[in-house]
Amino acid sequence: MKSWVEVSERRLAGNYGLLREAAGRKTAVLAVVKANAYGHGAAVCAPVLARAGAEWLGVTDVAEGAAVREALTGAGISRERQPGVLVMSGLLREDAGDVIRYGLTPVVWLREQMEWLVEAAVQSGGGPVAVHVEIDTGMARQGVAPEAELEGLLAWVTGQTALRVDGVMTHFASSEVAGSSQTALQRRRFEEAMGAVAAAGLRPAWVHAGNSSTVDNQGSEGNLAWLRGLAGGVGARSMVRAGIALYGYCLPIEGEGLSAVRQELQPVMTWKTRVIGVREVQAGERVGYNGIFVVERAMRLALLPVGYADGLRRELSASNARPGGWAMVRGQRAAIVGRVSMNLTIVDVSGIAGIALGDEVVVLGDGVTAEDHARLAGTIAYEIVCGVQAAYRCGIAG
Ligand SMILES: *Cc1c(COP(=O)(O)O)cnc(C)c1O
Repeated sequence: MKSWVEVSERRLAGNYGLLREAAGRKTAVLAVVKANAYGHGAAVCAPVLARAGAEWLGVTDVAEGAAVREALTGAGISRERQPGVLVMSGLLREDAGDVIRYGLTPVVWLREQMEWLVEAAVQSGGGPVAVHVEIDTGMARQGVAPEAELEGLLAWVTGQTALRVDGVMTHFASSEVAGSSQTALQRRRFEEAMGAVAAAGLRPAWVHAGNSSTVDNQGSEGNLAWLRGLAGGVGARSMVRAGIALYGYCLPIEGEGLSAVRQELQPVMTWKTRVIGVREVQAGERVGYNGIFVVERAMRLALLPVGYADGLRRELSASNARPGGWAMVRGQRAAIVGRVSMNLTIVDVSGIAGIALGDEVVVLGDGVTAEDHARLAGTIAYEIVCGVQAAYRCGIAG
C-alpha cells in the first residue's frame, strides 16, 4: 500500500473522555462522525465512540447514517445498545424511508421535511418518527426562523401524532470567539424559541447547541452552564456536539490563550507512506515542476507516492525562497523540495542516515500536525484531515 491512515483508538476514546469531563456530568456530548469521521473512517470511529459511552453520534446525511448503523452492528453492538444517530444536514423526500428503516433521527426545520416523515411513518405502521427541530438563531444556514416561522410550525407539529419532537437545537456561528456578541445574540434568540416550544406544550428530551469550541471556550462565556439551565427549564437534558476535538484538534480561542482542553487533546490520525525512490542531486539541478527549487549543494532526496490527489496540499510546495511543508522520517523533519505533484512529492533526507526504499514516512501525525499543514495551506485543520484520501488501516495504538 502506498499510503494509509492509522487511527489511534486509544487517543480517540481519550479525547472523548476529556470532552465529557470538560462538558460536565450533566451535559451529554454528541460525537460527530460526519464526513467519514473527518477523514478518519466512520466505520472505525463510530464503534469506538459508542463503546466510550456516546449516547448520540452525528452524521451529515441519511446515507452516512445508514453506514454508521451497519458499522455499529458489524462491530457487534446490538441495535438496542447503539447510540442515537442524528442526521444533521438536511433531508430529501426519498430519504424518509431510510430514516425509519435505520432508526435515524433527522434534524428538521421545514414543513415539507416533516410531511415526508409523517407519510413514511404512517406507511411503515410503526410508532411516531422522532425528530430534532433546529432553530436558526443567526447563521442563516438551516433552521426555523424564530420570528417568522416558529409559531406556525409548532402549532402544526403538535397536531401530528406520527411525529415526536425529541430534541430542539441550534448552532453557534462564532463559538471560538471569547466574549462574542454574535453568540450572545444567538443565546437570546434560542431562549425565546425555547419559550415558544414550552408554550406549545412540547416536551423535548434533548436541548443542544454548539460544537467543540463551545466545550473549549467556557471560561468567560459559561455557554454550557447557560445551556444546562435552558434544558432544565423544559425538563430536557442538555447536549453539546463535538467533532474536531474528538480527532485531537480545536480552533484557538480568539482573544484568549491556550485552553486546558486544547492542550490535552491528542491527534488521532497518522497518515503514512513509503519511500519509492532515493537519489543524489548536485548543485544546479532543478527539482520538480517548473524547477521552482534549484539545488544549491549536493543533496539526497527521497520520493514519496503522495500528492495533492491524496490530500497533501499543493501549498506545501517549497522553492528556494519559500520553505514549505515537511514529512517525518525516522523521527526527523524532511523538508518538501519543489512542487507537490498530483501523486508524488520529494523530500530532503540529506541529514538523515540510512534511508532505504520502502521506509515508512509520516506525512501527517506526531511531528507534523494538521495544524502545521493548515497554516501553510491558509486553512483550518478541519479541511486538512477531511481532505486526506488514504486507504484506512486502523486500530493502531500510540
Ligand atoms: C459539524 C457540526 C458540529 C461539530 O463541529 P466541530 O467544530 O467539529 O466540533 C456540531 N454541530 C453541527 C450542527 C455540525 O454540523
